Amino acid sequence: SARRSGAGSVHRYDDALRAEQDRRGVLRADLDGALERGELRLVFQPVVDAVLQRTVSIEALLRWRHPVLGEVSPMEFVPLAEESALIVGIGRWVLLEACRTAASLDDAELAVAVNVSAHQVRSGDLVPDVLAALEDSGLSPARLLVEITESVLLDDAHVVEDLGVLRRIGVRIAVDDFGTGWSSLAYLVGMPVDVLKMDQYFLSGVEHDPSRRAMCRAVLQLGTSLGLPVIVEGVTTPATLALLRDMGHRYLQGFQLSRPLEADALAAGVRLAAGALHGPEVVTP
Ligand code: C2E
Ligand code: MG
Ligand code: MG
Ligand code: MG
Repeated sequence: SARRSGAGSVHRYDDALRAEQDRRGVLRADLDGALERGELRLVFQPVVDAVLQRTVSIEALLRWRHPVLGEVSPMEFVPLAEESALIVGIGRWVLLEACRTAASLDDAELAVAVNVSAHQVRSGDLVPDVLAALEDSGLSPARLLVEITESVLLDDAHVVEDLGVLRRIGVRIAVDDFGTGWSSLAYLVGMPVDVLKMDQYFLSGVEHDPSRRAMCRAVLQLGTSLGLPVIVEGVTTPATLALLRDMGHRYLQGFQLSRPLEADALAAGVRLAAGALHGPEVVTP
């Protein structure tokens, strides 16, 4: 005889919760040593300049191929790495690997963007790690962009100081996921910031939602007023691409231009991404 669905679903919920905790436990344990075992790699997503019609930078994105579970998303494992402080060692490797890759490309103008977590900045190791990566790779500081989230800027004076040191040697600082944090706009003034990356949130449903379109315009105007370029991330469809270009957004990143590229496909993919600006004509609503 079948159990009543009420009790059954509670059990299923328990099982699901336990499975999730088990997975987290497994990932947390296995992340220790993943770097040494060669399970981590970087992929690189182009950012295209719609005016110059070329790829101006690539964002390094971390990937983990678990030997049993397969590809694990950084949205799942980066937070675990942050909890266990493994992120400091992993982040150091990401900086080095990203700078080496950029330096190896035959394009002296292409910059590389590296995501840096709050924990890494707070650890105090960011400045020495960046200097070591630049020295080891021979990459010009002007070709490195460090991506931080808004909340990092609010952290404390030391963080802002360290970012200022990086800027003085020519490294640029980008605020990632801009617009969704809780920082007031006043905070941006006088902050060591060179680039804003508008959060993907504003693009979901943007073709049909006038309020999101207004936000996309507002972020661009804010950047213009502050003299900061705005990168739009998450450009996923031809219609969104056309709409953003109509609005005057210049720096674009997303699947519609290019998926993140494996290192061995990078040189060719960087050229193809700009070509995607000339995709099939789309009529904007
Ligand atoms: P993020 O820095 O905001 O990176 C953008 C994310 O959006 C990437 O996900 C990228 O693959 C995805 N994306 C790009 N274009 C599109 C699109 O058109 N549509 C949609 N739906 N998504 C798009 P990914 O690679 O899974 O990374 C997720 C997050 O993990 C990153 O968000 C970043 O916060 C973190 N992360 C990735 N690599 C690193 C790293 O090396 N260090 C640290 N600390 N965090 C990292
Ligand atoms: Mg990023
Ligand atoms: Mg982002
Ligand atoms: Mg994000």
